[in-house]
Amino acid sequence: MSLLIAGNWKMNGLGNQLEDIRAVAECADANPIVDVLMCVPSTLISRAVQSSAGRIAIGGEDCAPDAAGAFTGDISAEMLKDAGASVVLAGHSERRRKYHETDVMVGAKVTAASRAGLGAIICVGETKDQHARGDALSVCAEQIAGSLPQNLEPCSGSAIAYEPLWAIGSGQTPRLDEIAKTLRHIRGCLRTQIGEQEGAMRILYGGSITPDNARGILELPEVGGLLIGGASLRSRDLSAIIRVADEIAGQRSTGLCKAATCEIEQLAAERLVAPSSGLAFDPVARFANGWVSRNVEVGPFSWDDPPIYEGPIQLFRDAAAQAGFSDSELERSLGPVPQFIAHSFSEAAARWLGAEHLRRLEAKAASL
Ligand code: PEP
Repeated sequence: MSLLIAGNWKMNGLGNQLEDIRAVAECADANPIVDVLMCVPSTLISRAVQSSAGRIAIGGEDCAPDAAGAFTGDISAEMLKDAGASVVLAGHSERRRKYHETDVMVGAKVTAASRAGLGAIICVGETKDQHARGDALSVCAEQIAGSLPQNLEPCSGSAIAYEPLWAIGSGQTPRLDEIAKTLRHIRGCLRTQIGEQEGAMRILYGGSITPDNARGILELPEVGGLLIGGASLRSRDLSAIIRVADEIAGQRSTGLCKAATCEIEQLAAERLVAPSSGLAFDPVARFANGWVSRNVEVGPFSWDDPPIYEGPIQLFRDAAAQAGFSDSELERSLGPVPQFIAHSFSEAAARWLGAEHLRRLEAKAASL
């Protein structure tokens, strides 16, 4: 999964600020590896969808638990979806604190989001006092246990956002090692709570992100993206962060691609007759080889056995074509794998290999 850069405009933004959404969408277009989401006030959702022309995702900032009824002033998840949102924030600390939202209420909103087919970004994080007492991990664990429905099947775009309350809007951030430790802990809590489905959820960091501190945080392998308040209101700052995230996402994909091809070569050597042609050094061929060894009962066979390879090669070609690479460019793909192909390749690998396998590859990629 690529990195996600999510903006949260809070109670800010009028029609004349849609120009900023357009600018962010243009930046996202030019940096296609990173995923971009803008959570805006409900009044702007449908116009933001139009302004961004589908190039970024648009989200809501909160939703009511019920689908419809006598709840004057509330907006349901179904209404957000109808307006064009694909994701909604749940349990932002400002709602927990200023509107006394409990974990149970947040859980009901997450259930509502899932009912409406929206991804939910569930915010958790400790206060300054809790941080000082060393309670960050237990507070996050408790909030996750309370606000994540037990058998949640996360919709696309779902995530946990770790947002220490003392870091929001304060210009302060936790140390990098603290962020990494908390995010690892949150990953473990998610696994306990929703099992295998946990692989479908990113874990974001949020709190006083600026173009100056984004790189260090995004470089932590635990971080799946950022939730950004203040800086998301300035399209120039947000665009700078998107560019950094795209670069880092590209590097991660390339590492993953390397790890996958290493592994596939090893598999091929163990289980297959080594192909005699130079294609053995082509990433398409390597991947096809690995795919075959994993999915097809093979006896001795020849590299020219086309039906076995057709499926995986076609999938790889589709992914590369989607990223704008022609067949002839693919034929020349001996040598370093271009970043776009690496990204498509790792996305394809994610689909084929499954979450557990992918995690092992990611660990291997980090050590390359
Ligand atoms: C937020 O409110 O979710 C947030 C992270 O705000 P800021 O980036 O301004 O600290």
